[in-house]
Amino acid sequence: MQLKSYGLHDIVEMKKPHACQTNKWEIIRMGMDIRLKCEHCGHLVLMPRRDFNKKMKKVLVKVAPIHQENEESE
Ligand SMILES: [Zn+2]
Repeated sequence: MQLKSYGLHDIVEMKKPHACQTNKWEIIRMGMDIRLKCEHCGHLVLMPRRDFNKKMKKVLVKVAPIHQENEESE
């Protein structure tokens, strides 16, 4: 089983696209409920975290990596 890691401001793809045919959602709130914003039309969705875990397909853009192994140096 794959562990899905996601965080605030990540862009995720859901199993079903939004009615506007866009399947890119930004996580704008994390908590007991997850609030998502459609990247195309700005529509807001609120769902319990366990529903989100079921409906989320993958993380498209990871904004804040959990593992910071290397710091960039010049
Ligand atoms: Zn939309």
